[in-house]
Amino acid sequence: MTFPPLDQLVPEYVRRFEAYIPSKPDEELRRLYGCDRLLRLNNNENPLGPPPEAQEIIRRFPPPRAAVYPSGDAYYLREKLAEKFGLQPDQFIVGNGANEVITFVIKAFCQEGDNIVTADKTFAVYEWVAEFSGFEARLVPLRDFGFDDEGLLERIDERTKIVFVCNPNNPTGTYWNEGRLRRFLDRIDGRRIVVLDEAYCEFVEKKDFPDGIRLLRDYPNLVVFRTFSKMYALAGLRIGYLAGDLEVVNVIRRTGVVYSVNVLAQEAALAALNDDEHIRRTRALVGAGKAFLSRELDRLGLPYICGEGNFVMIRLPLSDTLAYRKLMARGVMVRTMTGFRFPNYIRVTISAREALEALVRALEEILKDRGQRTEIRDQKSEDGGQRTEGCHPGG
Ligand code: PMP
Repeated sequence: MTFPPLDQLVPEYVRRFEAYIPSKPDEELRRLYGCDRLLRLNNNENPLGPPPEAQEIIRRFPPPRAAVYPSGDAYYLREKLAEKFGLQPDQFIVGNGANEVITFVIKAFCQEGDNIVTADKTFAVYEWVAEFSGFEARLVPLRDFGFDDEGLLERIDERTKIVFVCNPNNPTGTYWNEGRLRRFLDRIDGRRIVVLDEAYCEFVEKKDFPDGIRLLRDYPNLVVFRTFSKMYALAGLRIGYLAGDLEVVNVIRRTGVVYSVNVLAQEAALAALNDDEHIRRTRALVGAGKAFLSRELDRLGLPYICGEGNFVMIRLPLSDTLAYRKLMARGVMVRTMTGFRFPNYIRVTISAREALEALVRALEEILKDRGQRTEIRDQKSEDGGQRTEGCHPGG
């Protein structure tokens, strides 16, 4: 059997793309890092778990139903979303996480030579899907840690099909208020698709935060993403959706593979949508967690960016990859930010108090340990000695 000629078979843009390697399962990680418990603060999950009604649906799921295909287009969930947001069911497409609907939109609008425009430090999947599909991703630097509207407009050219705006932004937590978003959309003047990724919108309590779905009436070129992974704590079931103008959504629907959303996810999401009390409880937990963490980070003298959403970015006096390993050895998993082009930063999920306390303890130990090593290093270098391991940035 001859080996397939991969150099001929694989498009150049796939060849140069590096696959994303997800983290290993907890048990493997615990073994690898020698810790007996692992607190995951890396994926912005909700520690409260799904709303009680959704939990009940999951508990009561009759196993024989696993043999039967789900609704191919999440029929009842779209009906429910339509009722909740005052739109038509066909204005929604439900996907296997919001991740999947990103691919639908890019496939629907981009062809060879086209590009998408987004920020350089934001959720990376817009950029990745564009690039491994052969389209240029034009990345505009953040300004003051937020999306730069002027910068985005400058990079748009006649081949730009989609502009992705993450509101609030993951990982910086900054947001455009309604006035700013409207001004941006007015200047785009319907000529491009603007995707507003509202994965974290349910966490935002600011009065001037825009509701993308309400803006659809005024801006038919707007496509809004939402997910059940964050506030509704259904990340493990993989379900998210997009909403848009009927004609636009009818185009996007052509590029989606139906049946990608499992039956349990559809039913749990339907139940989760009813629960405003869950939103209140989660917001209270995140608010208290942010207050606690801000106090503690101030005490440790660590700079941080605490915006909207259930996460905080922390700047460390050591490389984020080294910090990751040191935190893992102490049973705390965070997200390194080098991949987001923020070296020396980590992003941590605002989780339950106990987990945040463990994070603070671990950070404190790492800083203390580092301080001691620095002292030794300073003494040695005064003596003309060698630098000790752990003091150089990439170490
Ligand atoms: N958008 C943003 C901004 C996100 O942070 C995430 C997940 N981290 C997603 C979309 C995708 O969410 P999911 O696929 O879990 O629905």
